[in-house]
Amino acid sequence: MSANDAQVLIHQHLIDPEVCIRCNTCEETCPIDAITHDDRNYVVDPSICNGCNACVPPCPTGSIDHWRTLPKSAAYSVADQLTWDELPAQQEVSEESLASIVTETPPQHNAAVSATSLAAPWSAEKPQLNLFDIRHPVTATVVGNYRLTDAQAESDVRHIVLDFGNQIFPVLEGQSIGVLPPGVDASGKPHYLRMYSVASARDGERAGYNNLALTVKRVLFERDGMPGKGVASNYLCDLNKGDKVQVTGPFGDRFLMPNHPGSNLLMICTGTGAAPMRAMTEYRRRLLAQSKGVEGQLMLFFGARSPAELPYFGPLRKLPASFIEQHLAFSRVDGEPRCYVQDKLRLASARVADLLRGDSYIYICGLKGMETGVMDALRDICRSAHLDWDVMHPIMVAEGRFHVETY
Ligand code: NAP
Repeated sequence: MSANDAQVLIHQHLIDPEVCIRCNTCEETCPIDAITHDDRNYVVDPSICNGCNACVPPCPTGSIDHWRTLPKSAAYSVADQLTWDELPAQQEVSEESLASIVTETPPQHNAAVSATSLAAPWSAEKPQLNLFDIRHPVTATVVGNYRLTDAQAESDVRHIVLDFGNQIFPVLEGQSIGVLPPGVDASGKPHYLRMYSVASARDGERAGYNNLALTVKRVLFERDGMPGKGVASNYLCDLNKGDKVQVTGPFGDRFLMPNHPGSNLLMICTGTGAAPMRAMTEYRRRLLAQSKGVEGQLMLFFGARSPAELPYFGPLRKLPASFIEQHLAFSRVDGEPRCYVQDKLRLASARVADLLRGDSYIYICGLKGMETGVMDALRDICRSAHLDWDVMHPIMVAEGRFHVETY
């Protein structure tokens, strides 16, 4: 430590572990990789953070916006922050020391945020946010837990319906909720919450009921040669009717669907990333059933290993082509070449380009790995249609017409 470090005051950027929902938005947004995480906490590395604030507006909870003034020599390290269950209080900084010590203010600049969701669609319904938090969760009751994938399929993906009784818990398609698994982890701390996208329409999984659905894949893995189980996914997949679940949220004020008639939805998803697409499709289907004219088109690109592994395969196939144009990509079907959503996009390039020319909103959800392939496909499709994706993309982001949620 230099003598100077003991004299310099810094304004240290911290994340509140009690409020953070571990959605990864800050880490994805930070243009200089100053944010990192482990199994428990998201933290800011004081040796990298330059206080650009790029991560602050996208945070759905405000947990990102915490600052402590302290000597640079006493800055909380990444290792310190990873052990926290709550933020340390602001230590008193005497006026005398403030007057005599040079304050090092991190440079504020408008970093070019690579965020993929800067705004909600202009016509989106205003979402309710953060009605329930970790300290004050709402209790929901399980009213359904159905396996979506074939009994023989390797993955166990479930459709779980939660009822909120007489508690107000309004959600919009594209929003997420937090689930608090009961119990403690190996270090004796309560399990942190996990986020799941709502898979049902705003008026309930069953229209007119105060319930919602989630799409959850049972996570099983191997670590150091030992089998392991995802804490929250196994907890949820094993729930029975009547069981109680602690829920926080709702979260998310950007990945929302447009409300105006005539808006087209281009939905691209893999696996359980289908949850918000199911919600949006179902809402549009209900509008149509009530003859509430929605002239806009729906186009879905959905990837799974096989038809048996594709959540909602049966119900999807029953939707008429006049309502939704479906392009299903299967990667592991015996005797067939591997096909990903980006391959299907390319095969339908003329139709996709037509949609991109119109009043269209793009939603991408699922595996992180799909992002590059999908972006490359959209760029190529635009090029062959005399459109410039590199010009269109930032405009669509700014206008709330391009949304990505990948993990
Ligand atoms: P998965 O079954 O592992 O994969 C689905 C399909 O995507 C498979 O056909 C897979 O092919 C393919 N795929 C793999 N790499 C790809 C790439 N680079 N480009 C395009 N396609 C690719 O999917 P999953 O386990 O359900 O995972 C879905 C993801 O969605 C998870 O990361 C989850 O966290 C996220 N998500 C879930 C929710 C929710 O509410 N449950 C919400 C938002 C996001 P191969 O494996 O055969 O290569």
